[in-house]
Amino acid sequence: MTDHQHPDNQHLDPQHLDTLVIHAGQSKPRLAGAVVTPIVQSATFDFSGAHDGEALRYIRYHNTPNHEVLHARLAALENAEAALVVASGMAAIAAGLLSVLSAGDHVLVQDSLYGGTAALVDQDLARLGIDVERFDGRRAEQLEARLRPTTRAIYTEALSNPLVLVADHQAIIAFARQHGLVSMIDATFATPINFQPLDLGYDLALHSATKYLNGHSDIVAGVVAGQRERVAAAGTVMRHLGGALDPHACFLLERGLKTLALRMARHNANALAIARFLARHPAVRAVHHPGLEDHPDHARATRLFRGYGGVLAFDVGSDEAAARLLDRLRVMVVAPSLGGVETLVSRPKLTSHAGLDPQQRRQLGITDGLVRIAAGVEAPEDLIRDLEQALAS
Ligand SMILES: *Cc1c(COP(=O)(O)O)cnc(C)c1O
Repeated sequence: MTDHQHPDNQHLDPQHLDTLVIHAGQSKPRLAGAVVTPIVQSATFDFSGAHDGEALRYIRYHNTPNHEVLHARLAALENAEAALVVASGMAAIAAGLLSVLSAGDHVLVQDSLYGGTAALVDQDLARLGIDVERFDGRRAEQLEARLRPTTRAIYTEALSNPLVLVADHQAIIAFARQHGLVSMIDATFATPINFQPLDLGYDLALHSATKYLNGHSDIVAGVVAGQRERVAAAGTVMRHLGGALDPHACFLLERGLKTLALRMARHNANALAIARFLARHPAVRAVHHPGLEDHPDHARATRLFRGYGGVLAFDVGSDEAAARLLDRLRVMVVAPSLGGVETLVSRPKLTSHAGLDPQQRRQLGITDGLVRIAAGVEAPEDLIRDLEQALAS
């Protein structure tokens, strides 16, 4: 195919995320002409004639054709210089933190962290001689008093779990810039469709691609995106730790990503529809979703995000009421995790926050009757009817 037959091809540079999720980073020419990137399931690659270690391809070096397409596509979605896929969200978070922090450093982390991240920073980083200190992400004015000469980085999450609170990301970034700190955000709950944190000023965006990016609850994967040198540093750590994503999982992630924009639109709409339904229901005491006008961070979420995401939580008042509700659901699936096409329901008390004692849970607002919904992409009417019958006394 010559250029003069398709004069636009040379200059067509898609801007819309809806298009980029499908086409960005496609290898040119396409491998064997295939429209879909084939799975290149080869641990090692022909090295004959090469005189330079840079040319060495190996799955653990995350540089097979399946990795490279994803790296380019995810970089385009995050508006980043570079991106890296790794074996899980935790691998991405570990790579991000360990590529920046050394013994003696101090890191400020948001207080409502994903459980795996909390364990990583409290157990492993602490053991490596890295000082970890919490701050309330919605009270950025707390940062000043916590700053030390050794403070090196600041770590947040786009939306908190399960109360979907929104940190004051702009103030946090401004603080990080002012003091030369590396700023990182776990943007799993938002995805680039709802929020592009690098555009706002974060240095590194991290994702559990297990969730929305893949979207089908069938792989575990993670992403690091940001400036080229920072992503390369995270990639070096991951080569050493050995957390590469297998090419077959790369293939599934690439397939899942193509529908990310379509899926997120529906996740956003379904969660908001369910939240509005629950807010009117007499058996429900409180509903937490940033799309609701009475959510404490509604204004900030509206300013920062293009969509409020697929997660919501609500309180049915007691342990017994929550247990009964989950037992009665017929369409929604009772399971932890989120981001898949099927609606998942869980009780934070028994899943994400099971490791805390009752008082710690109370402090975080994790009541006995709290139920989290990760809205899937089913018809909202069916989801609401399911809740309606499950909540009927
Ligand atoms: C699931 C999740 C992780 C961990 O991701 P894995 O892919 O399970 O390793 C990290 N952060 C958030 C916000 C998550 O939801």
